[in-house]
Amino acid sequence: MQKVLGGCKLCGKPMQTNRSPLIHRTCDACKDEQLRQSNRRLTVRRKAKRHAIKAALKPPQCQRCGKAIEGAHMLTPNGQWVRKFCGTRCRQAAFQARNVPGRRLRPDMLTSEQALETAKAVAQAERDKAP
Ligand SMILES: [Zn+2]
Ligand SMILES: [Zn+2]
Repeated sequence: MQKVLGGCKLCGKPMQTNRSPLIHRTCDACKDEQLRQSNRRLTVRRKAKRHAIKAALKPPQCQRCGKAIEGAHMLTPNGQWVRKFCGTRCRQAAFQARNVPGRRLRPDMLTSEQALETAKAVAQAERDKAP
């Protein structure tokens, strides 16, 4: 082991090398800093991209009543709005519309499958309420 001439490439901190002392090396602290910087740049770039996608899209409309959805600021990675309905009422109405045939058959009985679906819808509605 010998000393790297000039030390760390970036901060000049003395470094050891098992190769030529002329090969410049970067110390761990500087490497960490480089990683942090590149992560930060990546985050900024991703954020800008997200904003550009959002700006290019029209505000989402409720799939049931067509009203613009307020507070729909979230996008999934494929550019879809997270929210499809303006509120719990439209979501439930759409859910019920999809499930009418099953309900007509046995209006007074809730099968375990339907109970499960209802529970899922309620859970989804709860998630929708959260910001
Ligand atoms: Zn350094
Ligand atoms: Zn609606």
